[in-house]
Amino acid sequence: MMLMLKCSHCNTILKLNIGYTGCDWDTVKGKGSGYGWEVSLHCESCGRLFTIGHIKDYNNFAEMKPELKCLK
Ligand SMILES: [Zn+2]
Repeated sequence: MMLMLKCSHCNTILKLNIGYTGCDWDTVKGKGSGYGWEVSLHCESCGRLFTIGHIKDYNNFAEMKPELKCLK
């Protein structure tokens, strides 16, 4: 069972968010590495954003199957 993460501020279930920032210099891979896609968890209730890390290519990220998620 996969548990969903909740916002530490308002306890709302966080939504996965992937967006291009191009800020690969923010990662341990460094500037010019191409890790420009930011993966984060977003709280739609209070607007907080918890960044997990970056990926190189949006298409290389695989979400869990819907039936494996614990969304209620
Ligand atoms: Zn929140």
